[in-house]
Order: sequence, then structure tokens, then C-alpha cells
Amino acid sequence: MSTNWDVIIVGAGSAGIPAAIFAGRRGARVLLVEADNRIGGTLHWSSGQISAAGTRVQKELGIEDSAQEHYDDAQRIVGGGIDPVLGRLAIDNAADTLDWLMNNGFELDPSTPTAGLAHEPYRTRRYCWGVNKAISILDVLRPLLMTEVDRGSVDLRLETTFTGVVRGDGGAVTGITVRTKDGAEETHRTSNVVLTTGGYAASPELWAKLTPHAPLRSHCNPFARGDGIVAAQAIGAKVDGGERFLCTFAGVMDDPADPLSTMLCLQLAPQLRVPWEIYVNTSGKRFVREDHASVDHREHALLAQDEMRMYIVFDEGIRQNAPPVDILHGREGMIERLGAHPSYLKAGTIAELAQQAGLDAATLEGTIARYNAAVDSGNDPEFGRQTMIRRIEKPPFHAISAVGCTVVSPGGITANGALQVIGTDGAPIPHLYAAGEILGFARLSGGGFVGGMSLMPAMTFGRLLGQSLLEWEGARDAAE
Ligand SMILES: Cc1cc2nc3c(=O)[nH]c(=O)nc-3n(C[C@H](O)[C@H](O)[C@H](O)COP(=O)(O)OP(=O)(O)OC[C@H]3O[C@@H](n4cnc5c(N)ncnc54)[C@H](O)[C@@H]3O)c2cc1C
Repeated sequence: MSTNWDVIIVGAGSAGIPAAIFAGRRGARVLLVEADNRIGGTLHWSSGQISAAGTRVQKELGIEDSAQEHYDDAQRIVGGGIDPVLGRLAIDNAADTLDWLMNNGFELDPSTPTAGLAHEPYRTRRYCWGVNKAISILDVLRPLLMTEVDRGSVDLRLETTFTGVVRGDGGAVTGITVRTKDGAEETHRTSNVVLTTGGYAASPELWAKLTPHAPLRSHCNPFARGDGIVAAQAIGAKVDGGERFLCTFAGVMDDPADPLSTMLCLQLAPQLRVPWEIYVNTSGKRFVREDHASVDHREHALLAQDEMRMYIVFDEGIRQNAPPVDILHGREGMIERLGAHPSYLKAGTIAELAQQAGLDAATLEGTIARYNAAVDSGNDPEFGRQTMIRRIEKPPFHAISAVGCTVVSPGGITANGALQVIGTDGAPIPHLYAAGEILGFARLSGGGFVGGMSLMPAMTFGRLLGQSLLEWEGARDAAE
């Protein structure tokens, strides 16, 4: 088997697969290495929500939109901070990516495009997803990739772990090293190395280095270990943006000692479930208007709390009458967990509940008394909460320990508009490219969350690399 390739792509996820498909179609001999025993990467985990403006679907629905409006709207949502070069590259080319998916059988959820809800809404309907979350995307990408594998243009190596970038005497990248599933060490040579290994939210060590101010509680692909970031940094790539973290509101740790055990099990969007509970911080005090419509507002409020931790406090009356706040485990699952799981507390008195949570009993009692008075008067002078359905008074009392968490990692390696990796000296590292979350979530989404701005840029950048940005001898024009 040849160890010389036109293109080497590291990681078969949302960015790597389109890069391989399009490079293969242009006649490249592509090596695609993947550490997992399956392709898809984070597509197996992701909600699959993507955004694009000026798409065929929008036109068919009479929605007027443009890339400029999408870009301006995205910057508005996060108060600026999206990389102007990469942000434009992603947004200007997103419609072509969605149209390409649609041409190849992408099954759009009929309720979309929408302005969105999971994150701050867009001003218009440009946010969409497939009927089967991100698996609908993988269902499109897999057969297209396998066509290239079958015709020999892409050599897909599963369970093959990338271990480093090789550089020549002049500093240009000349290949990569890998470890095969049999433990053999191999070197593969090329003049186009594309790193698409994803983020680092599954690596407590790298998280502590790049995002030290925020405790890691993640729900993500276990291969999101930041291997590509570490390898690129080792040869001089500039890594930044790790401090631009905003937590997701909120998850529950299945094992409080394991940062990777975070479950996204709660329904805390007031538009989908009006909160019956109160949220208190580690001081036993409320810190946010629980029914505030802006998720960005609630996320920033939680980010500012000690340990990004909150307790969702309620009583037996709420437990019996409210739709369950834990939508993953449901009513029965919550009953099983309360008092039996370390993150689900249950006590006969408020003081006892406070003691279990490590809160000051008098403070929690005072917080609940003030909230009950607000329920009675219909006026919440502290936070202006609008919906206060019932008092918290009937034992047993309950609390779910929830935390600000993440599904992505904010920092990453820097790249220019040709997706060439940039070194700490400000110059491109010859023959080294990158796409996807390895570039840092914050680069495309600023210091907040813009709907669909991780997955769509990942696919778009992969497509652009394969279609036009990578060059090799004998490269053909891109085909649809
Ligand atoms: C629960 C969840 C929900 C999400 N929802 C959304 C959403 O709705 N919208 C959105 O825009 N984004 C969302 N995201 C984020 C988005 O899905 C990811 O940012 C995106 O899929 C990342 O794509 P990628 O190609 O960069 O990385 P990945 O898809 O993670 O692919 C990287 C690949 O590289 C492989 N790899 C890693 N290290 C090595 C190595 N050393 N050698 C070989 N291979 C390696 C991995 O196994 C993986 O297959 C979500 C993420 C999660 C976890």
C-alpha cells in the first residue's frame, strides 16, 4: 500500500467526510484516517441543527434572506466576536452546502426552517435540521463517501490513530504519523494534511490548559480529545480562543466525579416548559429570573455562579403536578432518582435539603419564604419572574444539582481564509490545513451560541477544501 498521498485527512466527522468526498471526486488519492471504529464523529451525538441563508428551501417557502443578513444577525446574537474572515467564508457558502445535502436526499424536518429556540432566535427562518437529528446528515454523507471508497479514490482507515504531523527541513508539512489498530506505527506522506479531529471537550487535561477558568462538564464524543490541536501546536500552530466560553444551561452529572458524565436531561426552556421550580446557587440564593425568555441571559447568569452550579428546588406538590423537568428520565425516572442518585436530592425539611446540598439552611429557608411570598402576591420584586405557579411548601423537598455544561470547546488552532493553519509567527504553516471544531467553536460563534454555527461551518469548510482549496498535481475541477 502506497504511503504517498495527494491528500491526507485526519478525522472522519462533519468536516473530514465532505473534504474526502470532494477531493476524491477531483481525482485525488486520499487517505482518510479515523481513530474510531466508525465514521461520523460527533454526528452520532449532535442535534444536527444547521443554518444557512439564501437556500433553495427558503426560496421555495418565500423567505427572503441573504448571507449578509445571516452574518449581521449572527454577530448581533453574540455581540460581535465571530472571526470576520472565517465567519464570512462559512456563512457565504452555507447555502451551497445545504443545497448539496438536499440534492443528495437530506430529509429536512418539515417544521424547519425556523428562527430557532435552543439558542437566541435569528431574525428570520434560516435554522433547520433533519428528521433524525445529525444522523440525517450522516445518512447523506455516508453513501457519498462510500462511493469514493469503492472506486478507490479514498482509502478509509478506521481504528487508525493520528499521532503527529511530520515536517520537512524547510518547515513545510510533509505527512503524518499514525498508529494502526494492530499497534503498528506508520508514516504517510503528502503535500496536503487536513486536520479535522474536532474539539477537546472530552479531554480534562487539555481543557484545563486552554479553558482553565471554567470547570469542564461535557456531553460529547469521547474522541474529542483535541489530538489535532496538540499536534498542530507542537509544530508551532497558534492556538487561541479557549477563554471565550459560555456554558450551556444546564446539565446533570451522572457521576459527580466524572466531568464527561454530564447528561442533557433537563427541559429548562420556558417556551417549552414553564418553570415551576426555583434555581438557587451554592449560596442558597436565586440568581436569575427562571422564566427569562433569553437563553443567553440565563447562560450568562449561570456562568457567573460559583462552580457554574445551581440547584433546581421544588417540593412534592410540584413534583406531583408539574410536567417533569427531567425529560430524559421522565416522571418515573425522577421518582427513582430523587433521594437515590447523588445529583437528585430529597429531604423531609428544607434545612435537611440544604444540608444535603451543602447550602446554608437559613439562607435557603429565607429564599424559599421570599419566593412563596412572591407567589402569594403575584409579584417577584427580586427578579421580576412572571410565572409562579405554586408555593414550595409540601414535604418532601427536592433539589436537582445542575451545572453549566458544554457540548463543544471554545478554543482552537487559527487558520486564514484559505483554511491554512497559522503559526505563532503569523505565517501559514505550509501544507497544513484545518476545518471543523478544531478551529475553536468561539471562532464561528463568538462568545455565545449562534444556532447551527458549528456543524454547518464544519461541513462547509470540509467541502471547500476538497472542492477547491487543496491543490495537487492532476487535480480536476470540482464536480457537484
Ligand atoms: C450533543 C451535541 C449537540 C450538538 N448540537 C449541535 C447543533 O445542533 N448544531 C451545531 O452547529 N453544532 C452542534 N454540536 C457541535 C457539532 O456537532 C460539532 O462541532 C461538529 O460535529 C464537529 O465536527 P468536526 O468534523 O469538527 O469534528 P467531529 O465530528 O468530532 O469529527 C472528528 C473526528 O476525528 C476523529 N479523531 C479525533 N482524534 C483522532 C485521531 N487522533 N486520529 C484519528 N481520528 C481522530 C474523531 O473520532 C472524529 O470522528 C453539537 C455537539 C454535541 C456533542
